[in-house]
Order: sequence, then C-alpha cells, then structure tokens
Amino acid sequence: MALERTLSIIKPDAVAKNVIGQIYTRFENAGLKIVAAKFTQLTQAEAEGFYAVHKERPFFNDLVKFMISGPVMIQALEGDNAVLKHRDLMGATNPKDAAPGTIRADFAESIDANAVHGSDSLENAAIEIKYFFG
Ligand code: ADP
Ligand code: MG
Repeated sequence: MALERTLSIIKPDAVAKNVIGQIYTRFENAGLKIVAAKFTQLTQAEAEGFYAVHKERPFFNDLVKFMISGPVMIQALEGDNAVLKHRDLMGATNPKDAAPGTIRADFAESIDANAVHGSDSLENAAIEIKYFFG
C-alpha cells in the first residue's frame, strides 16, 4: 500500500447542485482524508493554467468558461493508492460511460459539466496540489 495525495475539484455544476457533502462522504467512506481544502471562484488565468495540457483541444475554451462559471471546492486527498482510488470513485469522463454508483454517474449531466476533477497520475497530482496549495 502506498500512501499518496491527489487533487480533487468539485466543479461548478456539482457545487450548484449542493452535493459537496455527499461527495465528501464518498471520499471519507473510501478512506480518503481531506488534508487541504478551499472554496473559491477560479479566475480565467487560473483555469487556463490548470488545464494548460488541454489548450490545443477543441473543448478548451468551453472547459475554461465552465470552470469559472461558479465557485468550486478544491481539496487535496490523502490515502492508500489515493490517485487511482479517487479516479475509481469519480467514474469515466463522460457520465454516459461512468459505472453505476460513481460520482459522475450519480451527479454529472454531460461530458462538459461532469461534476469532478481528479489527478490522473502521481506525478500530475504533485503538480496540481502545488498549483493550488503551494
Ligand atoms: P478527466 O477529467 O476525466 O481527467 P480529461 O483530462 O480528458 O478528463 O479532460 C478534462 C476535462 O475536459 C473533462 O473532465 C471534461 O470536463 C472536459 N472534456 C474532456 N473531453 C471532452 C470532450 N470531448 N468534450 C467536451 N469536454 C471534454
Ligand atoms: Mg484529466
């Protein structure tokens, strides 16, 4: 078992749906501990910087616009195999493909408004946690 940290964002659609607590409960029940958190509204520059890896993708502008459309809840999660465990809790990027019982299957509307972000590797987790928490 490897103790890891990963970055989680509850996106504007899920914050607007008032399900932060329900999503936190899933983290807690899976043994993921919240070790840093902030409720904030991203600036355009922050959202663009965070998703810089996607800047050539056709959906980039819509993604940035969506991420700044309302407040988000950002947290660092710690636990055994946190990166993969968190991705499993989230479900597939497109909620239509997300397994039943995952966060995206239960709370996401579309591939654009898909409720949550999670780091996809240990390396990116470290970069993303530093980006928001220094
Ligand atoms: P994930 O969030 O599952 O790691 P990606 O890193 O591939 O997914 O994409 C980042 C975000 O960009 C996704 O969560 C989703 O909101 C958005 N996105 C990805 N692919 C598409 C797409 N084909 N159309 C619209 N939005 C997309
Ligand atoms: Mg990703």
